[in-house]
Amino acid sequence: MTGRKVLMDFEVTPTSHSLDDYRARGGYEALEKALRTMKPREVTQEIVDSGLQGRGGAAFPAGRKWQGIDPDDGQPHYLIANADEGEPGTFKDRWVLEYTPHTLLESMLLSCYALGVRHCFVYIRGEYDLPWRRLDAAVEEAYAAGYFGENILGSDFSCDLFVFRGAGAYVCGEASSLLGSIEGTRAFPRNRPPRMTVRGLYQAPTVVNNVETLATIAWIIRNGASAFREVGTEKSPGTRLISISGHIARPGVYEVELGYSWAKFLHEDCGGVLDGRPLKAVIPGGISSQVLTGKDAKVLTAGEVEGLTLDHEKLRSAGSSLGSGGMIVIAEGTCMVRLLQIMLRFYHHESCGQCTPCREGTGWMHRIIDRIVAGDGRAEDLERLNYIAGFNDGTTICGLGDAAGYAATAMLDNFRDEFDYFIENKRSKFAGNLE
Ligand code: SF4
Repeated sequence: MTGRKVLMDFEVTPTSHSLDDYRARGGYEALEKALRTMKPREVTQEIVDSGLQGRGGAAFPAGRKWQGIDPDDGQPHYLIANADEGEPGTFKDRWVLEYTPHTLLESMLLSCYALGVRHCFVYIRGEYDLPWRRLDAAVEEAYAAGYFGENILGSDFSCDLFVFRGAGAYVCGEASSLLGSIEGTRAFPRNRPPRMTVRGLYQAPTVVNNVETLATIAWIIRNGASAFREVGTEKSPGTRLISISGHIARPGVYEVELGYSWAKFLHEDCGGVLDGRPLKAVIPGGISSQVLTGKDAKVLTAGEVEGLTLDHEKLRSAGSSLGSGGMIVIAEGTCMVRLLQIMLRFYHHESCGQCTPCREGTGWMHRIIDRIVAGDGRAEDLERLNYIAGFNDGTTICGLGDAAGYAATAMLDNFRDEFDYFIENKRSKFAGNLE
């Protein structure tokens, strides 16, 4: 058990994604409660009071983001659920979309009611086929039952939802970038200010929230902000969905109460490192979060159950973050030089090319690491990698440029000996095997 549950509080069955099953477990009761007894601003206040933080990476307080929109300002407003889950190692929103899509839909209706939104969107990555089919079927069921459309449940509230499928670009997972994708222009991340709650989709105030963030709203309205605050820690209330992959005995998606012991999660709940090998490192929240070694995060070694816990404060103090919730476990014997090569190839390929430090820097770093892996590394290559990585820090429009630089510096800081060995010996310390 990984602590108390908010989203995984039911048994997954072949029909748990259906409207009947969702209603049987109390689904859409929160919507009825809000429409009958709460004013829109009271819904927002409940989310502010809950302390819910964004589950997409930045952990920005969801209620504070919502307060950026005045529901009575007479303008059109938009809400977008960001289901473009493209961060390598991250597949936790997929669980919501496949097994309980109505939780997302009910939560979006509550959010639209709070924010004065008439039209909302789910932006789902094009590669997600079953999640999209399940979501699409759920939308049809919800319309047929009168949860979307005009005068929902006999109230004055009307709302329509559109599902928009992306075409496979990682950068579209960046909130401002997916606006362009929906608008039909090139999906470039946008400079801020203005914030999207001031000028977003079609130049109107817009809230973009991650799927897991939104899916939590129905639970909060049904049970109250104070009940939500009882779960998790004081500064990180609630739970996180974590998708865990790599060298781990039981990969998958888990719901973990924030503040839960990391070592217990890895070694007991997830069955420990694959084949009982020693743990070398963990990338805690998608490859854009900094790698932590077993040495730095001492608690990761078996037998030590105190220490690092899974919450924003502890991960931040360890120099990384919970990020997108995509945890990648790396066992001893893995070549970190080749792992960095894969990461830099990804960033180079996915850079949209708007900012010079990202466009040129990711390509330059990628060429250097390719050369090292090909056995043609030069003594000055590692300093140059560090130097280029530093260019990106804070000089780019979105976080992709920063993330590529952080990935390189974190790997070089933690595993410098492996890079030196590769350059000197023209081969991996681990015979070039990345298992
Ligand atoms: Fe595009 Fe990279 Fe600039 Fe982001 S940082 S806007 S991906 S060029």
